Amino acid sequence: MSKVYNFSAGPSVLPLPVLERVQKELLNYNGSGFSILEASHRDDDFMKIIADCQVKFKKHLGIGDNYKVLFLGGGASTAFFQIPMNLLSKDETADYIDTGMWSNKAYKEAGRYGNAKIVASSKEKNYNYIPQDVEKSFTPGAKYRYLCSNNTIFGTRWNSFPKSPDAPLIGDFSSDILSRKVDFSDFGIIFGGVQKNLAPAGATFVVIREDVLSQCNADLPSMCSYKLQADNDSMFNTPPVFSIYVMNYVLDWLEELGGVAAIEKTNLQKAKMLYDTFDGSSIYSPTVPNAADRSIMNVTFVLPNEDLTKKFLKEAGAAGFSNLKGHRSVGGCRASIYNAFPMEGVEKFVDFLKTFEKANK
Ligand SMILES: *Cc1c(COP(=O)(O)O)cnc(C)c1O
Repeated sequence: MSKVYNFSAGPSVLPLPVLERVQKELLNYNGSGFSILEASHRDDDFMKIIADCQVKFKKHLGIGDNYKVLFLGGGASTAFFQIPMNLLSKDETADYIDTGMWSNKAYKEAGRYGNAKIVASSKEKNYNYIPQDVEKSFTPGAKYRYLCSNNTIFGTRWNSFPKSPDAPLIGDFSSDILSRKVDFSDFGIIFGGVQKNLAPAGATFVVIREDVLSQCNADLPSMCSYKLQADNDSMFNTPPVFSIYVMNYVLDWLEELGGVAAIEKTNLQKAKMLYDTFDGSSIYSPTVPNAADRSIMNVTFVLPNEDLTKKFLKEAGAAGFSNLKGHRSVGGCRASIYNAFPMEGVEKFVDFLKTFEKANK
C-alpha cells in the first residue's frame, strides 16, 4: 500500500510507532498468553495501565495533585450534560462562550439544569473568530464559565484564555489536548473525547479540580456522578479498556518526542506552512481571517467555487491526501493536523497545493 496522509478530523491519525507496538503485542500482552482485549479490567495488568496513564497524563498537562483524572465513556457529548448535571442547580447561572457547534451544544444541555447564559458569541460571522474582552460580559457569581478551546469544525482556537479568578473555567479540549502548553490554573474541569489527539475512540477524559469535585451533586444516577466515579478511580464499571491502553502508549510516544513543549513547536511549524501557503495564494483562502485565532490543529480553507473544490478534493485524494472535505456547516476544505500527523505529510501536501494552484489559476 502506498502511503496515505490522513487528515481526518476525528477519529484521526495515531502515531505509527504506537500502532506498531499495539499490533506486535495484540495477541499476547506482557507474556499473559492472551490479548489485552480479553483481559479483565480488574487484572493487575490493566490496573497498572490505567494508573500509569493517569500519572503520565497529569504530567503532560502540567497539573498538580489537586486534580483528579477520570476516564469515562459516553464521549465529550456526555460531558456536555454531565457537567451541568453535577454542578448547576435551577437557581444558578453558568456562563457559556459560544464559539461553534460544540460549545453551542454544551450550552443547550446546560439549560436543562440551570440558567445557562451565552455571554459572548461569534455566531454572526459563522464562528470565524474568537470573541475578545469576554471578561466584561461575565455574570458576577456565575457557578462556572465554559468555553471550547479549539473549534474543530470552524478552525478557530483560543490563543490565550480569559481570566476567571472568581469562578472555575470549564474547557472542552477534545481537539487540542496536549498540542500546546496551557496554564490550567483557572480551569476547574478539562475534558474531551480522546479520539482526536490521544487514542482511538472510547474514553472521555474528565480532569477535575478537588474544589470543583467537592461541589458536585452526590445525588445522581451512579454512572453520572463525578464524585462516585472519582471515588472509584474510574473503575465503578468497565472503563473503555482498549482506548486507555493505547492512550498510555501515545503518552510514552509524546514523552520520547520531548513532551508538550516540543510537539507545540512542531505543531506551530506545521500550521504555519499551511497558512503561509494560503495567505500567498490566489485560489485558496483561509476561512479564519485573524491569524491569532487560527487553529493549529484544524486548518480550514476554501477555493473560489464548488467545482474547483470538488476537483481539488478528488485530485488530493488520488495523490494520497485523504479526508480533506470540510464540515458541512463551513463547506470547503479542512486539514486536521493533530499531534500524530507527520511533518513530512504537511510538506508534501504543500507541494501538492502549489502544483494544483499552478494548474488551476
Ligand atoms: C469531536 C468533538 C466533540 C464530540 O466528541 P464526542 O466524543 O464524539 O462526543 C466535542 N467537542 C469537540 C471540540 C470536538 O472536537
